[in-house]
Amino acid sequence: MGSVVMAGRKRGREDGGENVLQSEQQQQQQKGLLSQQSTKKKPLLLQQWVDPVQGMANVRHEFGEHGGVNMSIEASTTFTVLEPETMTKLFQGALGPDRDFYIYSRHFNPTVLNLSRQMAAMEGTEAAYCTSSGMSAISAILMQLCSSGDHIIASSRLYGGTHALLAHFLPRTCNITTTFVDIEDLGAVREALKKAPGSTTKVLYFESMSNPQLTVADIPALSGIGHDKGLTVVVDNTFAPLSLSPARLGADVVVHSMSKFICGASDIIAGAVCGPADLVNSMMDLKQGSLMILGPTMNPQIAFQISLRLPHLGIRMKEHCERALTYAQRLKKLGLKVIYPGLPDHPQHELTKTLVNDGYGYGGVLSVDLETTERAHDLMRHLQNTSQFGWMAVSLGYHDTLMSCSGSTTSSELSKEEQATAGISAGLVRMSIGFTGSMEKRWSQLLDALTSLKLVPDVAARW
Ligand SMILES: *Cc1c(COP(=O)(O)O)cnc(C)c1O
Repeated sequence: MGSVVMAGRKRGREDGGENVLQSEQQQQQQKGLLSQQSTKKKPLLLQQWVDPVQGMANVRHEFGEHGGVNMSIEASTTFTVLEPETMTKLFQGALGPDRDFYIYSRHFNPTVLNLSRQMAAMEGTEAAYCTSSGMSAISAILMQLCSSGDHIIASSRLYGGTHALLAHFLPRTCNITTTFVDIEDLGAVREALKKAPGSTTKVLYFESMSNPQLTVADIPALSGIGHDKGLTVVVDNTFAPLSLSPARLGADVVVHSMSKFICGASDIIAGAVCGPADLVNSMMDLKQGSLMILGPTMNPQIAFQISLRLPHLGIRMKEHCERALTYAQRLKKLGLKVIYPGLPDHPQHELTKTLVNDGYGYGGVLSVDLETTERAHDLMRHLQNTSQFGWMAVSLGYHDTLMSCSGSTTSSELSKEEQATAGISAGLVRMSIGFTGSMEKRWSQLLDALTSLKLVPDVAARW
């Protein structure tokens, strides 16, 4: 099918001629809507790395059908053409979304494609496509890259749903098996690859920052190891949008659960696959494409809503990250066991410093290890019901603080042994730090809970 190029182009002549871009510019000039960006013919490939927020700003701005500042929502499942021959061309793949020709919205939809272009720009990949959830993005890319009998090498510290997909679901339904390995140990990764069946091992899969220990992956080294063996390197960047850019650091494919920081309001489930254009296009193949065949389609209304939140993702991430860093530093000073990649005692702090994009910080999530489940529960109960510091809920990236005890919630898909291997303590409280209220008022609420429960010495209250 037609390719999903980065530069947006509008429908020109139905002969699919070379003048499509030209005629679009002429049309827009007549309307007086031409932005400076779109006067230049853009290269199909991003030649050079740009900051993710700048990258998004560089994407052609889509105006609404009537000149509205926001794009129109193309809420149609099906699309008309002027000539019957055009339909034939569409199904032959001779015309496609790169020339603004569409067939059916389970295949490409213009509104979803516009959001996807923003995601591609954010991650610095050639193309992207958005899906109905993070899990559907992950399962679709893995089922596209692997066939029955194939093998995956994956991090042993993964989001619970992804772990279940790899450990239980894919082996049963697709005969796709996975070897889990501690990705902090590059030697162990090399060893696992050496032992893995050569021609059928297709993917190296890990998270840029993993939950709840906030382990940061050495993306350049891992990508190098994977590429040496001809694997496709797929990285889940849900925990660190903008801060980390896995594709810039060597990964082939970046997946997102957009349900977290990107949506930012805990109201939408959504996902994205960002990667090479031929791979994204292959996922839309009418006979073999995982997105086209399995159909985890994003609703264009949802794509529109998310597109209005991307412009302030940078501002939100900076605030999440700054508050998380401040609280982590203060909790540490009080003698608590805090896990945060921005703290010098974090095992990957030095590495992370070399990987992060300037100016965004080290992520909006921190973990506090209180050792026992009872203490973890006491703290969360107090923080919600007495001091109103935040809410007991799984997930992350909300404007308020969300807290959960990982061992008994988000990581409970893991067996006790798997949790122990992954280093998840029973008293680990994960906090996704919000930005509502003033930072100091929130800090006083947190400190109040800690002193009331005698989790820190009383003297701290006067600090
Ligand atoms: C939430 C999450 C997912 C799954 O995303 P959904 O949008 O809930 O399907 C995948 N990976 C990570 C790291 C997540 O936090």
